[in-house]
Amino acid sequence: MKTLATSRADYADPMLAMANYLLDKAVARLGLDDGMREWLRTPERKLEVALPVRLDDGSIRVFHGYRVQHSTARGPAKGGIRYHTRVSMQEVEALATLMTWKCSVAGIPFGGGKGGISVNIRDLSRGELERLTRRYAANIASIMGSRRDIPAPDVDTDSQIMAWYTDTITMLSGNVADPAVVTGKPLGLGGSLGRAEATSRGVAIVANLAMHNLGRSLEGANVVVQGFGKVGSHAAQILAADYAATIIAVSDITGGYYNPKGLDVASLLDWVRTHSGTLEGYEQEHACDKISNAELLELPCDLLAPCALEGQITGENADRIQAPLIVEGANGPTTIEGHEILSDRGIVDVPDILANAGGVTVSYFEWVQGLSFDHWELSRVRQRLEATMTDAFNAVWEVAQQHQTSVREAAFVVAVDRVAEAMLTRGLWP
Ligand code: NAD
Repeated sequence: MKTLATSRADYADPMLAMANYLLDKAVARLGLDDGMREWLRTPERKLEVALPVRLDDGSIRVFHGYRVQHSTARGPAKGGIRYHTRVSMQEVEALATLMTWKCSVAGIPFGGGKGGISVNIRDLSRGELERLTRRYAANIASIMGSRRDIPAPDVDTDSQIMAWYTDTITMLSGNVADPAVVTGKPLGLGGSLGRAEATSRGVAIVANLAMHNLGRSLEGANVVVQGFGKVGSHAAQILAADYAATIIAVSDITGGYYNPKGLDVASLLDWVRTHSGTLEGYEQEHACDKISNAELLELPCDLLAPCALEGQITGENADRIQAPLIVEGANGPTTIEGHEILSDRGIVDVPDILANAGGVTVSYFEWVQGLSFDHWELSRVRQRLEATMTDAFNAVWEVAQQHQTSVREAAFVVAVDRVAEAMLTRGLWP
């Protein structure tokens, strides 16, 4: 039998390289054969669509759109739609694959999907953006729907774009209202309470559980958060307010802000709100040192939460990380080389597919509310998020102990095992 190539150099996209490297390790641990491995790694469906749009000046421009469904073995595909010039079939495939493992490890009944358009939204007027979105929705409609594939906002897409998407899909289907075709909707169109903070709350829940299992506590622990956007700022706030952690450093695109005695998260949030969305200049009016993002990652602390972007902990800096615990709010912040060094050093790194699964978990709650035309109160959303994240974390931790392996590899063992079981139980048709 021909053996599939497994080299990390096989995939130009580093996130896909990491996902398939970990998939291969999980397949080996689970004793699955090469056929299963190929089935598990190959996306079920990849659709590329041409999107001709009439621009405001009367000319026509053709954009390229994508939707990939990596797996629907455990439920409808789930994953965002991003608008970015870098969007390509390979990037969308990588992100769809990660969604399969994320939904599986979270234990929610979704498979993995992702979509996008290669475009810079800043080049378009609002009318052009709406026409592009509606044309994209129409061209992928045949594979989408509340029981097939449910998108959500991602890079440079928001609740307004989801509203145009919903309207187009609903009109084409002939239904009057179908709130479950998408998540991340505005509250008035059936969005869920608690969605905005969900990813960050999940990060905090998982950090608390991991600290506890390491015989430590978040109370008074020194925490460094990289990235102060949607995920990082809410995570800093929740860790400080609900878990009594001390946030000693945060960063954003403008650099890092560090005070070993602790930063006041409320004033950081206030600064961002009142200063064009960044922390620029914060150190001039508050007691803290300005440091670089590279320095921030290497600070002595009890918990490091990378919540900015991919490829931050690498073969180059992993041996200088001082945090004994890392909880990944961002997608793909650690490279394969970085992961191997952290593992060898015994640093506990809770991977993205587990640590930031709170967002898709509350998207699942939104979908359930949409299917049943129901609306949950915030306390119910938070309670169920805590229960889901706790179950997911405990399942992964147990496998890590059993197999004496890293939390990252254990998360993939749990995720792959569940998807493989669903595939084999449903059976191969015909
Ligand atoms: P965001 O755009 O709101 O925030 C990103 C933050 O990172 C900003 O503060 C930005 O200034 C900062 N940043 C950018 N470049 C940086 C650099 N070089 N060094 C340090 N900081 C830098 O995005 P977000 O929604 O918070 O997403 C952050 C990460 O979390 C991404 O990897 C995203 O894929 C992932 N994620 C987000 C969600 C969600 O619900 N928003 C869910 C799962 C995963």
